[in-house]
Amino acid sequence: MAFSTIHKVDRVRHLSKKVNLTPANIIVGSTESTTNQAITILQQDLCLDGGCLQCITCTQITNTRQHHALFWLSPERRYTKDHITEIRRHVSFERTSRDDFYIILQHAERLSPVCCNALLKLLEEPPPRYHFYLLTTKLKPLLATLRSRCNILYLNAESDVDHEELIEFMTHKKPCTPHQFARFLTEQTPPNQDASSILASISTAWAEQHQNALRHNQYDHAQQIKKILTIINQHTLLLPMPGSDKLFWRNLFLQINQKNIF
Ligand SMILES: [Zn+2]
Repeated sequence: MAFSTIHKVDRVRHLSKKVNLTPANIIVGSTESTTNQAITILQQDLCLDGGCLQCITCTQITNTRQHHALFWLSPERRYTKDHITEIRRHVSFERTSRDDFYIILQHAERLSPVCCNALLKLLEEPPPRYHFYLLTTKLKPLLATLRSRCNILYLNAESDVDHEELIEFMTHKKPCTPHQFARFLTEQTPPNQDASSILASISTAWAEQHQNALRHNQYDHAQQIKKILTIINQHTLLLPMPGSDKLFWRNLFLQINQKNIF
């Protein structure tokens, strides 16, 4: 079992690397879930610890959306020609081989057809090391020609309340053995599309425990929780395919429990 878990972690790393190499992406879901997803991706790629949630890079991305390798756009109303000009200006710099740059367009549903057209060329052949993420609540307002050039990731952020028990098991609020957890899974139809919002809830709960541990000077404990947070982060880029959701949750459960912190 230990071997297969290690193998799984390698696979997660490999896949997340691949996901990040795609230059043009659309993330569809609620504003909150797409924002969280983008923040997670940025933290994983820009933090030297792969998304530790503690360093200056991680906290700046969470709190201010600022980093020297990031241009985060969030227009209050519609996107304008000025926004596109500003994006072009960022993209005009040539980047070195290890120097990635991220452009996030929040509320991409506010892109007019004219703006979509102007973006088309950039998304089609972005210069090396540039990564675009268009966050949107609806896919329809985006031109089909633009959509066809992007990887599309669907999030469904509606229902984390329905999966409280799963979250309690994953966060050790309700401790259980792997055997009990496996039985829980067989009795349930675990959610598939909701995986990313459930992961967000699990991550938030562990982050709170991490803060608690630090507050009580339990540094070893905090260190273990940090490892768990990294595992959860890795899983956000490997959401389950239809039919593989039970395996997904079981693997995550085992990896979290392997940290053996209780
Ligand atoms: Zn960090």
